[in-house]
Amino acid sequence: MDSERLMRQLQEAGFQVAHGRHAAGAKAVLINTCGFINDAKEESVNTILSVIAAKKRGEVERILVFGCLSQRYRHELQQELPEVDRFFGVEEFDKIVAALGGVPSPQFLTRRAIATPAHYAYLKISEGCNWGCSYCAIPLIRGKYRSTPVEQLVVETKLLAARGVKELLITAQDTTYYGMDLYGRRRLAGLLTALSEVNGIEWIRLHYAYPAQFPEDVLPVIRENPKLCKYLDIPLQHISGKVLKNMRRGINSRQTRALIEKLRTEIPGVALRTTLIVGHPGEDAAAFRELENFVEEMRFERLGVFCYSEEEGTYGAAHFPDTVPGEEKQERRGRIMSLQARISQQLNEEKIGKTFRTVIDRREGEYYAGRTQYDSPEVDGEVLIPAAGNALRPGKFYDITVTAADAYDLFGQQQALGA
Ligand code: SF4
Repeated sequence: MDSERLMRQLQEAGFQVAHGRHAAGAKAVLINTCGFINDAKEESVNTILSVIAAKKRGEVERILVFGCLSQRYRHELQQELPEVDRFFGVEEFDKIVAALGGVPSPQFLTRRAIATPAHYAYLKISEGCNWGCSYCAIPLIRGKYRSTPVEQLVVETKLLAARGVKELLITAQDTTYYGMDLYGRRRLAGLLTALSEVNGIEWIRLHYAYPAQFPEDVLPVIRENPKLCKYLDIPLQHISGKVLKNMRRGINSRQTRALIEKLRTEIPGVALRTTLIVGHPGEDAAAFRELENFVEEMRFERLGVFCYSEEEGTYGAAHFPDTVPGEEKQERRGRIMSLQARISQQLNEEKIGKTFRTVIDRREGEYYAGRTQYDSPEVDGEVLIPAAGNALRPGKFYDITVTAADAYDLFGQQQALGA
């Protein structure tokens, strides 16, 4: 969304803006960087290097880099990557516009362009984070939690709906804390209800739900409100009590299990996405086995795994030696991912023969690619429908019957009319 807000600022200043990886021919390329963990940092640096190569070939005139990584390591990056014309921190949109010779428009600071397909958009409901997870530098970069008022988010959602957005993807560093700073209590349930009342919005999907002190009044809203996808992205990171304590997650093993049971009981059929971190200090062989058993037992619908990396300035870096060797971390990650691939295949096969309301995202070669309410764009699987014999339109919803499945995607056919 930062990129989308900057794009809007640039458009207001009269620039032509394109989003994507194709830099050739651009007068200036702007790169938004992420500093969350090593993998994300590497991806950001690789992107910068590829644009530097394009600049050296004469395909790009200027390179401007902004975002979290740039904010934290501006001086190091300036020295390492002198081909970059300028580095900016987070939310320095006005300075970027000015550096390009434009005039910033502060009145449009909360407005944004949409870089996603026209029918879905991310809605960031707050900025910053009040937790202090041992491994995470985000609070150092983004600061304390600041909720955006409900009324402002409703206005933004109405503007998105007026432009054809039908699916809202709710994000924040931590969505479940929403409201505490502003209203003195958690108000995620009320916010979701208010957003669901916006005409034109058909699906609302909740991401980054921090598990500790989970606001349980959200559960009946997801269960009963037809616009709320029966989907929850809840990063658990681990299950071993010792590792959770070292991670400073504010939740223990027993509470984590109780929460998952509650989610599955109170929202029947909910698809749970989680992320885990392997190789955190304290994760000995027994703790890793506990994590593997947990994944096997819980059968999460979606799961991603990161390897721990020591981040400068974090509690983890100051208090724990990074004891698990890199190769061992990769090996553990691989083991969880293969276990999850088997679970995911089984869960997908259980869908064969069933019909799901599916939104079409795009046509790709011989297929249309769509998603059910159980799949978020870019991170989850897709439903692939042969283009031959089906005339489907991106952004529209269809009833699709699943005919085959692999570990990641489903294959389907449009349900015959009148069936
Ligand atoms: S909840 Fe933890 S992992 Fe997420 S942004 Fe906050 S400190 Fe980082």
